Amino acid sequence: MSRELFAIFGNPVDHSKSPLMHNRAFRELGYPGCYGRYLLEAGERLRETFLALGLKGANITVPHKEHAYRACDELDPFARQVGAVNTIVLRDGKLHGYNTDAPGFLQVVRESIPSGCVLFLGAGGTAQSSAVMLRDAGYEVTILNRSAPRLGYFRELGFETATWEEFDGGRFDLVVNMSSAGLEDESLPAPEELLRRVLREAKAAVDVIYGRQTPFLRLAKALGVPTRDGSDMLLYQGVIAFDYFTGERYDRKEIEEWMRGALEL
Ligand code: NDP
Repeated sequence: MSRELFAIFGNPVDHSKSPLMHNRAFRELGYPGCYGRYLLEAGERLRETFLALGLKGANITVPHKEHAYRACDELDPFARQVGAVNTIVLRDGKLHGYNTDAPGFLQVVRESIPSGCVLFLGAGGTAQSSAVMLRDAGYEVTILNRSAPRLGYFRELGFETATWEEFDGGRFDLVVNMSSAGLEDESLPAPEELLRRVLREAKAAVDVIYGRQTPFLRLAKALGVPTRDGSDMLLYQGVIAFDYFTGERYDRKEIEEWMRGALEL
């Protein structure tokens, strides 16, 4: 039986855990799929590379999610709305694009707080799609960012926004590090005093970064706030992507358990 090929595109891509997660689920199901990594330097070559490799599907990570959006023939309505694609599936000769990061993140938020006010620290691509998804699900989202330029996108969509200097506090049920502060350094996503103020009032804190204790998570823990890192977001977006890859016919809970096992290796 011929195998269906899948890959993750990114730059860098060697750290990605997606191959582990998807290959584990393929193996457990006896599904004829194989998932690898591809270091893609020129994002504009994503479509031709996908086709030349003979892929059935792909995930796309930093910095190519907007290129992936442009590479598709058909877009899921949410991916079209937010302009970012992290999952592509070849179906009937066409590239179909989806965004599974934001629904994956929504699942994490729902498990943390059923409703309420959420403060995002950071205003990049992940914050953009996640803010729209959370608001559609009934959450009130405020965006706080180090600098002003990226806040324009959110203001145009009617979100409350502020830079560190403009921020005048408030009560938030959930505080999320949506920035890359702490990814490869020891920086906090906002000034410590500001963070202490909002975290003291919060019911939970989430960091989208996974695989390390960030200074943000350490501070939240020190203040007694329940925390979660980004590994469940990674897991949930992978489960949703797997569903698209395989035609939505397997039990998501079962896929989730196998993928979780692969992440814990
Ligand atoms: P972008 O590069 O698009 O945006 C980066 C954001 O971080 C900007 O708002 C930037 O502020 C802010 N920032 C960067 N450094 C600092 C700092 N030292 N202090 C304060 N703010 C800072 O990033 P993405 O949206 O693509 O990714 C954001 C994070 O999400 C990354 O850490 C990534 O690893 C993670 N992620 C996790 C996923 C998961 O599955 N768990 C999935 C996708 C992403 P400014 O505008 O001022 O420059």
